[in-house]
Amino acid sequence: MQELDRTTPGATELPTLTSFDPATGEVLGTVPIMGPEQVGAAVALAREAFPAWRDLGFEGRRRKLLALRDTLVRHKDDVARLYTRENGKPLAEAMTSVLACCDFLAYYAKHAAGLLADEPIHVSNPLQKNHETFLTYEAKGVVAVISPWNYPLLLAMAEISAALAAGNAVVLKPSELTPLLGVKLGELAREAGLPAGIFAVVTGDGRTGAALTAAPVDRVCFTGSVATGTKVGQAAMAHLVPVTLELGGKDPALVLPDADLDFAAQGLVWGAFTNAGQVCASVERAYVHQRIAEPLIAKVVERAKALVVGNGLDPKTEVGPLINQPALERIEAQVADAVAKGARVLTGGQRLPGPGTFYPPTVLVDVTPDMLVMQDETFGPLLPIISVPDEAAMLAAANDSPFGLSATIWTADLDAGKRLARQIQAGSVWINTGLASYGNPLTPRGGYKESGIGKIGGRHGLLEMVNAKLVDVAVHGKPKLWWYPTWPAMVDFVSAGVDVMHGSSIGQRLSGLGKFLKSRR
Ligand code: NAD
Repeated sequence: MQELDRTTPGATELPTLTSFDPATGEVLGTVPIMGPEQVGAAVALAREAFPAWRDLGFEGRRRKLLALRDTLVRHKDDVARLYTRENGKPLAEAMTSVLACCDFLAYYAKHAAGLLADEPIHVSNPLQKNHETFLTYEAKGVVAVISPWNYPLLLAMAEISAALAAGNAVVLKPSELTPLLGVKLGELAREAGLPAGIFAVVTGDGRTGAALTAAPVDRVCFTGSVATGTKVGQAAMAHLVPVTLELGGKDPALVLPDADLDFAAQGLVWGAFTNAGQVCASVERAYVHQRIAEPLIAKVVERAKALVVGNGLDPKTEVGPLINQPALERIEAQVADAVAKGARVLTGGQRLPGPGTFYPPTVLVDVTPDMLVMQDETFGPLLPIISVPDEAAMLAAANDSPFGLSATIWTADLDAGKRLARQIQAGSVWINTGLASYGNPLTPRGGYKESGIGKIGGRHGLLEMVNAKLVDVAVHGKPKLWWYPTWPAMVDFVSAGVDVMHGSSIGQRLSGLGKFLKSRR
């Protein structure tokens, strides 16, 4: 907690929040709830540290970010264990997130220089020939990263690594449900030798996040719910600070009649229940062609029933706990609403005995579009399945949602799958797979509609962290024809230019050329 003490006046007298292990209810630790004063101090320190970090250049930052990657590798076992204890996910999934964090750090450390190299622009207008024109990219300054609890390190690191590699300082506000992982990341950054202030962690709840959004930062990267994202977007826009919003989803799976049923069932079960369904891009609703609905549902149920639910530290566990009691109650409310409206529960459907907050993988059929489980984000281990008559009905249902985060398609005909993918209103569409792009630093992702604004990952994600500056050099430095003073035939000259460049026939273009030459100054 040294960083907190250094950057945060009065941090020791602040109220605290407690982090719990959702599998046991055990207290893991407490952190201060920082307010505007502490957040302001962290942002001020970041701003002070920014110019030296920017001026270190890509090579200098590459070395520091690879040192952070190496530090994470050295501590991978403790970090993965804390991940499982604080968030609940099985240890293998936690270690997969650590691997993805290392991938993001290594990718941006090694490739930011190439991805942000000056971009020459060849201007075709003959009146602007002999210009050297290019775009150059510059770090913005201080980037605020506000992150959720479901993939606390991975989702934060995807933005932190891009922001730092581009030359920005970062202030991270981790979720109040997984604050210790955020604090751990701050400790690793110090151990790796990142300069003071370049990466600070401010702990707390929504009030701390609001204080960070209101602080003088240069970009806000928010990942979380639509409700909070809307507030964050409005608060940032009040100061015209650009935002990236990575928000919730209600992601459909479309299973075509030619799909391999065992494979599709395996994919649906993984897509719906990994991280206990607490994934923004999990399979939240499945539309299955009626010709295959019965056998496919039977296979899905068999696989869902076989999943081992338990404490993520147990190597046999496949599905961990929900994050907390309110999450459990939200899932119960969706199931109760669906059952009251006529849905049938084929497996699961009842919370498991405590002390942890466990809910088993649950498959629902006879669901209808008016049920909460088909409209609201579930963010838990429910898989409602609807049988549909054809592809058109599948597509219409998939797109009939205010969300547009991602979708999966299951088919043996890859061309048909790609045609369908182009018609789905979502930022990512996976064919015969799902979710993998989230851990891959090369694949930009983001939401359509209410699922968000902007991209994370790849070059698109890096471009969110920089200002693009146009530099236009008139190499010979001669006065332009349109500079003062004007001359009488100037209108004819420009009008002839329109004909030359945009005339609808060769005749018009040639006649324009004649007038153009005649009307020159
Ligand atoms: P949340 O919106 O409750 O909280 C996210 C973060 O915002 C937390 O750190 C929280 O403290 C902070 N916050 C709360 N109020 C704030 C305010 N007024 N100003 C600034 N910050 C504030 O979300 P959550 O429950 O942590 O995460 C679950 C949600 O995140 C789900 O909807 C899920 O789909 C979404 N999510 C999206 C993605 C994506 O990449 N699109 C990834 C993961 C999760």
